[in-house]
Amino acid sequence: MTTIPSPRPTTLTDPATFKTRWVDGLVAAYGRTVRRAPDAHGVIARHAPTAGKVAVVIGGGCGHYPAFAGLVGPGFADAAVVGDVFTSPSAEQVYRTAAAVDGGAGVLFSYGNYAGDVMHFGLAASRLAAEGIDSRTVIVTDDVASATTVADRRGVAGDFVVFKVAGAAAARGEDLATVAELAEHANARTRTFGVAFDGCTLPGQTEPLFTVDQGAVELGLGIHGEPGMRSAEAMDAHELADVLVDQLLPELPAGGDGRVAVILNGLGSTAYEDLFVTYSRVHARLLDAGLTPHRPEVGELVTSMDMAGLSLTLVPLDDTLAELYDAPCETPAFQLSAGGTLAGRAPDTVPEAERRSPSVAPDLADTDPAAGGVAAAALTAALGAVTDAEDELGRLDAVAADGDHGQGIVRGMRAAVAAARTRGGGTDSPADVGTALLAAGTALADAAGGASGALFGLLLTETGRRLHPADAIDTAALAAAFGSAQDAVTELGGARPGDKTMVDALDAAVGALRAAADRSAEVPAAWREAADAADEAARATADLTPSVGRAARLGDRGRGSPDPGATSLALMLDAAAAVITERCGSELRGGTR
Ligand code: ADP
Ligand code: MG
Repeated sequence: MTTIPSPRPTTLTDPATFKTRWVDGLVAAYGRTVRRAPDAHGVIARHAPTAGKVAVVIGGGCGHYPAFAGLVGPGFADAAVVGDVFTSPSAEQVYRTAAAVDGGAGVLFSYGNYAGDVMHFGLAASRLAAEGIDSRTVIVTDDVASATTVADRRGVAGDFVVFKVAGAAAARGEDLATVAELAEHANARTRTFGVAFDGCTLPGQTEPLFTVDQGAVELGLGIHGEPGMRSAEAMDAHELADVLVDQLLPELPAGGDGRVAVILNGLGSTAYEDLFVTYSRVHARLLDAGLTPHRPEVGELVTSMDMAGLSLTLVPLDDTLAELYDAPCETPAFQLSAGGTLAGRAPDTVPEAERRSPSVAPDLADTDPAAGGVAAAALTAALGAVTDAEDELGRLDAVAADGDHGQGIVRGMRAAVAAARTRGGGTDSPADVGTALLAAGTALADAAGGASGALFGLLLTETGRRLHPADAIDTAALAAAFGSAQDAVTELGGARPGDKTMVDALDAAVGALRAAADRSAEVPAAWREAADAADEAARATADLTPSVGRAARLGDRGRGSPDPGATSLALMLDAAAAVITERCGSELRGGTR
């Protein structure tokens, strides 16, 4: 992969359009194999949907090419949903992409184990189920460095193995339950360990997400710029190969026939020659251990933008896995031939309609800032606050996770404001406020993606849903609506107060609103107290150790700095307080605009 110098050329750096523009290029180049999903941020195989065949739908944030969109085509995935850089796609995009490739035999979802992906793909699966489309999900958990319990591990280069097996099983005509079982079997046998020499830089940024000290390497890194588990002194390629093999051998599952599938994966800016130097030692060490390397792959399969580093994946094989792993496929990034012609191969021409990108969020400049009621005004103030803090929120997220929270929440809030302004009805009646918040939450989740997109989006939609039928928005109604939103967020994300997430700030705000309602306090005073309580709780998260979400994987490394989601929520409640004070009396009333 070519490394675009950092900072990248400005025409490539706009994070808002990055995922659209690179997919434009992908389908222009590989239109013989893939096309855009209709009206969705997804890439689908030209042969899809195929009647009676299970559709394999993979995906996640972009920045990992060839994963995920480069692995779509006959014999592999039927579709890949494309999120923003390192950010899960939204449930809406997953739903649209999967619906486009369902051939009537159901959908097999597979993706790496990250909170945002789990939530958005899960919501999309529920929506498909409501429409009678059956789906199963296989979550990839191959990274041995990320947790002791296999189910808690994150998915890294092992994605390739699990997707390949699922794609081959579906292409062979297996039913949904069997495809899921075989993909689970592949995941259960796949183990990966990675090393970074230097960090990666997100589009639109000039500084890398993290850096590795000169003369050091980071062991056990993630594929989203999450720093490694520990640092070690720099070593030569053979010593590195020894570290990788020594980490993985004790982790390998028992069984298999002695053959082991091997992937030595480059993370984006490691020279192939360096990979091969390392591989020569890996190969020898595996033979010494009595294992036979089976169809080794040395190259870039799951990258991390321009990160310097590599990972080793080992999969002890049996006949079932080997047959599927070796089955023919043809995708933009990866082909295996069987000597024959692959079904589904299409001509090289791309109809104009397929080249069009899906629409991007409307430009706020086009909408009237005064349109819509108090909800739109409060959201606008909140957008201003997170926009001012965007870089700082990104830095907080980079301490223990992937550094995208600033960009994600700003992107989401922009869409939320645009939706509230056009859908708010223009009065401050409960119904209009409810409608505005519902539209805002839906737009936020779709535009932001990621864990926070799902959770902040739900926070708004659930609050809106509860306010909509209220007689008046007094403090008690606000407390009840936010309380119900907190329950929904807890149900979806599983985080409790004390887990170092946005739930800490939300819980404090809801507590303050309830206390204020008990005293029959007026809305502006109650909101102010809620914002202050959220601010205090967000600051206090600095002393907590993360236990859910991406940040949890680094345990204590997150201590000492506050949680980014809790911080952004507190900032937004604070900014909205000024609007509420200006516009509300003891309660919000219809037509007070
Ligand atoms: P991602 O984790 O997908 O990169 P963001 O970086 O935008 O998403 O948001 C991270 C924030 O989301 C965290 O700081 C935390 O507040 C919140 N978060 C993540 N997972 C959960 C969860 N399971 N429950 C509640 N909040 C969560
Ligand atoms: Mg993040």
